[in-house]
Amino acid sequence: MDANVRLRDIPSVDDLLRLAGVVEAIERFGRLTVVEVLRRVLDRIRDAVREGGDVPPLDAIVAAAVAALEADNRSTLRPLFNLTGTVLHTNLGRALLAEAAIDAATAAMREAVALEFDLKSGKRGERDDHLRALVCELTGAEDATVVNNNAAAVLLVLNSLAAGREAIVSRGELIEIGGAFRMPDIMLRSGVGLVEVGTTNRTHARDYRDAIGPDTGLILKVHTSNYRIEGFTKEVGARELAAIAHERGLPLVNDLGSGTLTDLESFGLSHEPTVSEAIAAGADIVTFSGDKLLGGPQAGFVIGRSAFIERINRNPMKRALRVDKIRLAALEATLRLYRDPDRLSERLPTMRLLARPQADIRQQAARLAPLVEQAVKGTVHVSVIDCASQIGSGALPLATVPSAGLALAPPSGSGRMLAELAAAMRHLPMPVIGRIERGALILDLRCLEDEVGFVANLARLCSPAEGSSS
Ligand SMILES: *Cc1c(COP(=O)(O)O)cnc(C)c1O
Repeated sequence: MDANVRLRDIPSVDDLLRLAGVVEAIERFGRLTVVEVLRRVLDRIRDAVREGGDVPPLDAIVAAAVAALEADNRSTLRPLFNLTGTVLHTNLGRALLAEAAIDAATAAMREAVALEFDLKSGKRGERDDHLRALVCELTGAEDATVVNNNAAAVLLVLNSLAAGREAIVSRGELIEIGGAFRMPDIMLRSGVGLVEVGTTNRTHARDYRDAIGPDTGLILKVHTSNYRIEGFTKEVGARELAAIAHERGLPLVNDLGSGTLTDLESFGLSHEPTVSEAIAAGADIVTFSGDKLLGGPQAGFVIGRSAFIERINRNPMKRALRVDKIRLAALEATLRLYRDPDRLSERLPTMRLLARPQADIRQQAARLAPLVEQAVKGTVHVSVIDCASQIGSGALPLATVPSAGLALAPPSGSGRMLAELAAAMRHLPMPVIGRIERGALILDLRCLEDEVGFVANLARLCSPAEGSSS
């Protein structure tokens, strides 16, 4: 049969629209979308037939269309299993929210809320009122406001307090955070001149004192959250720096980055300066993130002396950087959990995950190993290993937490098979993201709480070879 004859056998879009499978697809995806996908599928068949192929049976055509519709309809912002071993992974969305925060955010999405409305007086209220008292109680600050993220907090503070003037920063603290946040660039955009003092490894009190002049607007201290300078080093502590600033009537701004509200030593980690400590040390303004160690949604806190917070709130930039009701609700509920420190590690996922004992994770790894072995159908070797988790998001950059997990190693360390295995894991209905290390795919189980879901998901694993073709 020649191609022209076979082309006449291809069904029309109208023929297909009458089929039960397609009627069902219209219910799910809408008529317009279904028609468009059917056209696409039929075009492909036409091309294949011209090249000598056969016309597939009707049910195969419908199945192809439904598969294409499902693939198109899948969100790219999908939930996944973070088995990278980095608890606060910036590229995987940082902190997981507490149930209380999720409930509060959901309620704020579904209903009207008293966002800028004072229920007592019936008059206009302020967005910041929902957090101010709670933040001040937990940190010892006089006043507080919150914006989109900590980068926005730094930008807003610098612009409000020192635009057209200079800020003094140690050369050891001119950090770059991933995603193009570089302190010198932020300062430039905030309209503040950068005055660098000291050297990369050593900055002295006299370096700051000598740099203060008529154009100085503030002194900025930046927590070197994602790196450490070790060896022959010297930095001026927050308390001494506050004294130097105040001698000359200047504010000290301390960008803490992660900004933990609890002492991490109680979780067996090393000490990270807390927000309360930064306030107690005399900083006039302290900034920190909402979705790092604090364990809430993305946000940037600006806390400190009322007079400065008032100036910050009057800056029109504040309006452009403010947070919405959903995040305010989640932040408030998250902060409330800190009132009961004894149950924090139970209720706040970030703390719960960081606090998981290695022995628990080892047991989980031993339980899962045979099931994972089954899912990979013996194509790779599965073993239980000890490994080290990281906090992530630039908190305690050198600290690791003893953890455990599974190592999936292809025979003879085949790099191609390893890449295919990682791809197959990413193509699961709920993608599984591990890390590749020394010829194996490592799944650090510290952040795996839904074990049943993980096992059910894994049953859908294609063999690595199949996975690579999709
Ligand atoms: C993470 C970090 C920032 C940026 O905070 P985002 O909330 O990610 O915008 C700024 N400064 C320091 C020191 C940080 O660690």
